[in-house]
Amino acid sequence: MTASPPVLRMAVPSPLYRSFDYLPPADCAPEGLMPGMRLRLPFGRAQTVGVLLELSPQAQIERHKLKPALALLDPAPVLPAELMTLLRWVADYYHHPIGETIATALPVALRQGEAAQARYRSRWRISAAGRDVDTQALARRAKRQADLLQRLAASRHGLGAEQLTELPRNWNDAMAALVKKGWVEVEQVPALVFGHDQPESGPTLNAAQDRAVTEIVQGLERFSPVLLDGVTGSGKTEIYLRAVAAALAAGRQALVLVPEITLTPQLVERFRCRFNVPMAVLHSGLGDRERLNAWLLARNGEAAIVIGTRSAVFTPLQRPGLIICDEEHDPSFKQQSGLRYSARDVALVRAQGLGIPVILGSATPSLESLLNAQQGRYQHLVLPQRAGSAKPPEVGLMDVRHQPMEDQLSAPLLRLIQQHLDQDQQVLLFLNRRGFSPTLICHECGWVAHCRRCDTHMTLHLKRRQLRCHHCGSQRPVQPQCPDCGSPDLRPLGSGTERIEAALGQHFPDVGLSRIDRDSTQRKGSLEALLETIHRGGRRILIGTQMLAKGHHFPDVTLVGILDGDQGLFGVDFRAGERMAQLIVQVAGRAGRADKPGQVVIQTHHPDNPMLQLLCREGYHAYARAAMDERRLTALPPYSHMALLRAEAGQAAAPEAFLDQAERLAHQLGATGVELYGPMPAVMERRAGKYRHQLLLQAQNRADLHRLLRPWTPQLNTLPGARKVRWSLDVDPVDLI
Ligand code: ADP
Ligand code: ZN
Ligand code: ZN
Repeated sequence: MTASPPVLRMAVPSPLYRSFDYLPPADCAPEGLMPGMRLRLPFGRAQTVGVLLELSPQAQIERHKLKPALALLDPAPVLPAELMTLLRWVADYYHHPIGETIATALPVALRQGEAAQARYRSRWRISAAGRDVDTQALARRAKRQADLLQRLAASRHGLGAEQLTELPRNWNDAMAALVKKGWVEVEQVPALVFGHDQPESGPTLNAAQDRAVTEIVQGLERFSPVLLDGVTGSGKTEIYLRAVAAALAAGRQALVLVPEITLTPQLVERFRCRFNVPMAVLHSGLGDRERLNAWLLARNGEAAIVIGTRSAVFTPLQRPGLIICDEEHDPSFKQQSGLRYSARDVALVRAQGLGIPVILGSATPSLESLLNAQQGRYQHLVLPQRAGSAKPPEVGLMDVRHQPMEDQLSAPLLRLIQQHLDQDQQVLLFLNRRGFSPTLICHECGWVAHCRRCDTHMTLHLKRRQLRCHHCGSQRPVQPQCPDCGSPDLRPLGSGTERIEAALGQHFPDVGLSRIDRDSTQRKGSLEALLETIHRGGRRILIGTQMLAKGHHFPDVTLVGILDGDQGLFGVDFRAGERMAQLIVQVAGRAGRADKPGQVVIQTHHPDNPMLQLLCREGYHAYARAAMDERRLTALPPYSHMALLRAEAGQAAAPEAFLDQAERLAHQLGATGVELYGPMPAVMERRAGKYRHQLLLQAQNRADLHRLLRPWTPQLNTLPGARKVRWSLDVDPVDLI
């Protein structure tokens, strides 16, 4: 009897909590198959691309029902064993189907079956013979060739097409002629971002930085998680650069995670100034092909440094040496759809698996990370002061009760702005609400502009004369009259950044003004252009949303105004206070430099609020300690662990019915050590035309929670109500609404 061939256990993008078995493709010897390779598969009536999990002697279904895979797509695994192990952990921890988990980690092009082939491009370099050419003589015959030769002579490492963009379009002909004459050599280099020819060495570290770098470098050969906790401007980035240098010197690669696409250009530029190495930059603005390329060049080791947003945590690395997660507290590290993973938490698990260091950096660490540091799971490295001689800003509360207010701008604040402007300084105002005003109200009858698809009002965008829902994206033009009573007296209610901009324009008509929010920076490059004008001093008042709180430094700003300090006091989410404190501190940190210390004022109607007072007087860490005590007393994360089951449907009763069944199922399974809250309607029950409910699971002990989730989640689809809803499970939710 001949042994039957092994069965291919495949991960297939599907919402089912299982793997799928296939026979090897007809023309393919099973010995050549390895986990992590892609195969094209018949799936239902269509085809799909799956990833091989393992070869198994036994099938999960009867052998004669097995179908052969159609074709092997890779000569070698696209996902190395290390990532396959990590992704199995991710699927297990987030209770997500393995096929969808693996698909999330793959670039779209690979999911679609494209070849895993990296792209290279030409780079030209002057040859020894080229250096001997008399360019002046050449210029008389062939001006273009002479120009090119001069450009190349000035560059030590040669130039690629991306550096020659300002040349006349047909420079290629001239280059080809130079190559033919042997004056220029052409080589194929990976399509990556290259560092500068002559890297800078960076400042001399201060004592705190020096200690931090020494600690980090000592841990380079093992799993050593570090919380790098340093105020804005304390030189955290400088420490990242040194740690990366150490990893590169040891022949390793470094992976740097950043929360936002808007942060990447500046950080990339800082890395380019310091390292003359190829870098892969992965962010959501990349095309599929570019992303694939960067991913592959990280995998084959040609990209020495990988900088990317959330999903870059899954980038394969040939010689992983270090992972950095910058602004670790930022909620955008948590994916809010599909596989709801936290890139920060995955980075830790990955570093542990690899036995390499991981640095979590922030000026305002999350309470989760602070607790981990307190309990000794992370090394806590603190940078208490700004680097160089810059002084910390002075922070104060401004009581706006009884003050005349002009669109969120109190009279004392306006006076203060005037003072700073009189001294030729810049002023930064922060309001985390874009648009002109949160809604439009009829002064006759009280009608309010509601979204037809959500339980919320629509934001007025005056410039475009539009009402827009910030939750479902629907929009409609502003009508001249109230739809209920016909009155033309429609008034904007409350203020957003657009309204503040208008008010400031009236108040300070001669002062240049920039607004920075999602609306004003929609076009590619518009944020850079705005920042450029600000840095040149062309704009003296900046008004913006949380986009201003991230990454950018405004050294000439001496006054920061937080227009609505009360925004975090009454949040429905238990993290609202923490978020607001982080935002305030981050915005405050944008201001000032050595010779221009900053001043920060927070407008509030609650100047006696103890948490606000603590934040102002003693700073973020005192605030965080008090917030931690509160969380401990109320048994909220990080002192407990949560999972949130959300359900939505077009039919109002369906989500609750499904969640009732889910709750019953949980009790049948035991649910020891787990509290269930709900089902309850989401804070905004109807969004984008769907009714939403949720069921909250909470446990003191993480193991108890997962012991329930493991059998429970895969069974949810078998509940009778499941067909009528869309549901999702969120483990460690960062947002409860
Ligand atoms: P962070 O990332 O903590 O905000 P950065 O690393 O960006 O801090 O440093 C803030 C500023 O201080 C930068 O302009 C940086 O070049 C400068 N800087 C950092 N370390 C030093 C140092 N040891 N001496 C002088 N300047 C420094
Ligand atoms: Zn009306
Ligand atoms: Zn809406």
